[in-house]
Amino acid sequence: MAERIAVAPSDILLVVDVQNDFCPGGNLAVTKGDEVVAIVNRLCQRFHHVVLTQDWHPRGHLSFASSHPGRKPFETIVLPYGPQVLWPDHCVQETQGAEFHAGLRIPHAELVLHKGYHRAIDSYSAFFENDRTTPTGLAGYLRERGLARLFVAGLAFDFCVRYSAEDAHRAGFGVVVVEDACRAIDVDGSAAATRQSLADLGVALIGADAIVER
Ligand SMILES: [Zn+2]
Repeated sequence: MAERIAVAPSDILLVVDVQNDFCPGGNLAVTKGDEVVAIVNRLCQRFHHVVLTQDWHPRGHLSFASSHPGRKPFETIVLPYGPQVLWPDHCVQETQGAEFHAGLRIPHAELVLHKGYHRAIDSYSAFFENDRTTPTGLAGYLRERGLARLFVAGLAFDFCVRYSAEDAHRAGFGVVVVEDACRAIDVDGSAAATRQSLADLGVALIGADAIVER
């Protein structure tokens, strides 16, 4: 049986991109993405501190295939900051697709962090944009508030959850990925690559049921 982890006062739950466009019926639907909603709703009750991220793109964002004539979604191109997977238009500011899933219930969330709002840079991670140098400010926010360990859940496991968890680890935070509270896009083996990468870094993957209140 898996080890149990007790939630400490300095822990936070980071809920990544549980938005309509990443759920079935959305523009960049993650298979069964909506299944994380009920799990996250239960899980968040065990945490004093919860932060949400919200993918929040301007129209014509450079990560959209539609911004590159002749390109199709899920192709990879090279942008000035490196390789970039091209996505269907998604999570456009002030659209229904960018809204959180209507079933999400986290009234005590302390911060909603928008990301991907610079037209020319995508942002998978909650900590750094995809140029890997432009910070979102989240690390400073967590440090200033004395929050030391992140439990990461949401969408999608193999992109925004992965990059957020890896950056948190590199920034010196404790990190636990709540695997059953995530769902993956799985492009070209990206879900398996994520498991391998997190294991290499020593980031724990656990189930939501193993997280208990102190
Ligand atoms: Zn996006």
